Amino acid sequence: MIDRFRSVKPVFATAILALILVCNFTPDAFTAEDTRRIDRLDALSLRLAEERANISILTNVAIKQIEAQAGKVTGITWEKRDTGNVETTPLAGGFVQISLLPNSQMVAGQLEMTAHGEVVIDEKCGTSVPGVYACGDVTTVPYKRIVVAIGEGAKAALAAFEYLLVGTDVAT
Ligand SMILES: Cc1cc2nc3c(=O)[nH]c(=O)nc-3n(C[C@H](O)[C@H](O)[C@H](O)COP(=O)(O)OP(=O)(O)OC[C@H]3O[C@@H](n4cnc5c(N)ncnc54)[C@H](O)[C@@H]3O)c2cc1C
Repeated sequence: MIDRFRSVKPVFATAILALILVCNFTPDAFTAEDTRRIDRLDALSLRLAEERANISILTNVAIKQIEAQAGKVTGITWEKRDTGNVETTPLAGGFVQISLLPNSQMVAGQLEMTAHGEVVIDEKCGTSVPGVYACGDVTTVPYKRIVVAIGEGAKAALAAFEYLLVGTDVAT
C-alpha cells in the first residue's frame, strides 16, 4: 500500500539515478494535517524532492502493474484515479514505500481517535477512558520509530502501574 509520500529516500537517490518517479495514491502528496501529525522531516523531504529536477511526483495515481522482461523491471503502469487514464512509464527499478494505517479497529468506538484512526493519548499514554493506556505507532505520538515506541511502551506500563496503585492518574 502506498497512501502517503513520506520518505527521505527519493531525495538521497537523486545523486545516483537519472529519473525518479514517485507515485502517490492520494490526491495530495502530503497534507498539512500529516505534517502536524507525523513528522516535519517528511515535509522537508517532500519540499526537497519537489525542488529536484530528476524527481517527478505523481499524485492520485494507482499502480496497476510493474512491467518486466526477462526477469528485469522495465516500467510501471499506473492509472490516474480521477480520469481513469492508464500510462506506462519506462523505469529500471521500483521500491514500495509502505505507509501508516493504524490497526486500531479493535477499539473503534471505545476510545477517542483521530480521523486517521490513531488513538488519542496524553503525555502519560492515557486514552479517553481512564485506566486504558495506549502506546506506539497506533497512537497520536509523533515520530513513528522503534525507539519512540519502546519508550512509549515503558511509559504506558508505568502509567498503568500507577493507575492500579493509586486508582487514578496522578497529576504530573
Ligand atoms: C518497513 C518498515 C521499516 C521501518 N524502519 C524503521 C527503522 O529503520 N527505524 C525505526 O526506528 N523505525 C522503523 N519503522 C517503524 C517501526 O517499525 C515502528 O515505529 C515500530 O515497530 C512501532 O512499534 P509498535 O509496537 O507501536 O507497533 P508494531 O511494531 O507494529 O507492533 C504492533 C503489534 O501488535 C500486533 N497486533 C495488532 N493488532 C492486534 C490485535 N488486535 N491483537 C493482538 N495483537 C495485535 C501486531 O501483530 C504487532 O505485532 C519501520 C516500519 C516499517 C513498516
